[in-house]
Amino acid sequence: MPSISSPNTILIEVQGDVLKRMGKRAEAYVQFASFNPSVLGFVKAGSNVIYVNEIPYSRVAIDSEKSHDYLYVVILHEYLHLIGIADEREVRKITLEMVGRKFGENSNAFSFSKMLTFPEDVKIMENRKYFSHYM
Ligand SMILES: [Zn+2]
Repeated sequence: MPSISSPNTILIEVQGDVLKRMGKRAEAYVQFASFNPSVLGFVKAGSNVIYVNEIPYSRVAIDSEKSHDYLYVVILHEYLHLIGIADEREVRKITLEMVGRKFGENSNAFSFSKMLTFPEDVKIMENRKYFSHYM
């Protein structure tokens, strides 16, 4: 896998872009895991781990450009939750704006980001302390 698509390299890119746009930065780690393939990634409240689902990711992983764009969008989305934006619409809006500005509106990243506005607000709230976010 080319280093450009390494999830932690992309996380550093995301952290820099979010810092520039919002003046906020948080420690975070990306970890691949296998779970329900309709869920692309998630974060848990009180944790700084971004879980990226390796099952849907494996469909784009062979193409290094698509792989980078895919991971950028998923990691950015989850990272925005991690820095404290819980609202799903707000996160999607910021993600789409940032991706459009960075990659352009004809990019894979932008169309991918736009596609993600369909599965509306699939969330599980088990209690106030434990918050599982589904993208
Ligand atoms: Zn989300």
